[in-house]
Amino acid sequence: MNTLLITHPACLAHDMGRHHPERPARLEAILAGLSSPAFAALDRREAPVAAIDAIARVHDRSYVERVLAAVPQRGIVALDPDTSLSAGSGEAALRAAGAVVAAVDAVVAGEARNAFCAVRPPGHHAEADAAMGFCLFNNVAVGAEQARRVHGLARVAVMDFDVHHGNGTQHMFEADADLFYASTHQSPLYPGTGARSERGVGNICNAPLPPFAGSAEFRAAMQDIVIPALDRFAPELLLISAGFDAHRADPLANLELETADFAWATEALIGVAERHCGGRVVSTLEGGYDLNALAASAAAHVHALMAGGRGGKT
Ligand SMILES: [Zn+2]
Repeated sequence: MNTLLITHPACLAHDMGRHHPERPARLEAILAGLSSPAFAALDRREAPVAAIDAIARVHDRSYVERVLAAVPQRGIVALDPDTSLSAGSGEAALRAAGAVVAAVDAVVAGEARNAFCAVRPPGHHAEADAAMGFCLFNNVAVGAEQARRVHGLARVAVMDFDVHHGNGTQHMFEADADLFYASTHQSPLYPGTGARSERGVGNICNAPLPPFAGSAEFRAAMQDIVIPALDRFAPELLLISAGFDAHRADPLANLELETADFAWATEALIGVAERHCGGRVVSTLEGGYDLNALAASAAAHVHALMAGGRGGKT
C-alpha cells in the first residue's frame, strides 16, 4: 500500500510577517524536496477543510469561532507574542486540521498504509482555549479524536519528536487513559513543560534532552524510554508530531540531531505500529526552521514511511 501525502496551497497563504521563522517558505522547501522522482510513488491528495465539529472535539468551540472571526482582511493580527493571523490563516488552519482528519480516515479505511501531512500552521502548542507558539488548532489531537469518535478506535498514541515539548497535546490527553502522548524535546527550552515527572494518568511519557544532546542521546531516549512505553500502551493508531527543529542546523534550538536520525526514528516508530496496529501511522508537520535541514529531514521521514508502507526496512 502507498504512503499518502496530504497538503494544500492554502497552507502557503498563512503569513505571520516577513521575519517570522514559521514562514511559507518552510512548506515550499518540503514540497520541493518531495517533488523528486524518489517520491513519485506517493499518493498525493489535497487537504479538505476540517469541520468545526471535528476541531471542537479538542478545542472550546468559542475559541475556534474566535480565531476564525479574528482573521483580518489584510495585515496581521497578533494572538499571542509568537502567533498571528493574516488573511489566509483561517483557511490554512482549517486545512491543516483537515489534512490530519483525512489522513486518519484514509489510513483507518486501509486506503493507505501511512500518511504525511505537509501543512502549516503547526499545532502541538495550541491549547484547548488558546493559540500559542505559532499554533492555532492542535491538528494531531484533532486527528486522534477523529480516530476515536468517528472510527471507534479504543487507543490512540501520539509521538512528538519536535525539539519543543507539545504542551497543548499533553494537556488535551493527560486525563484520558485511552490516549497516550510521548515526547522527546530539549529542556530547558520553550514552552517549559515536559518534565519527566509529568505523567498524566500514566499516559504521558516525557524524555527531555539537555541542550547540545545529539544522535546518541536521542536514540537512547527513543530506545530505552519512548519505544517501550509505546509498546506497553499498544496503540490502534500511531500519530507523529513531526517537527524537525531538533536538527543541528536549526536556529531555534540546540539539539544536534542529523538528518539520518529522523529516518531512524521513523523506522523505529513504524516498528511500533507494525507490532500493534498493522503499520498504521499518520504523521503531521510541526516545527523545523532551517530550510535545507527541514527539507532534507522531512524527505528522510517520508522516505522511511514509504519503505515502511512496503513492509520493508531501508
Ligand atoms: Zn518546535
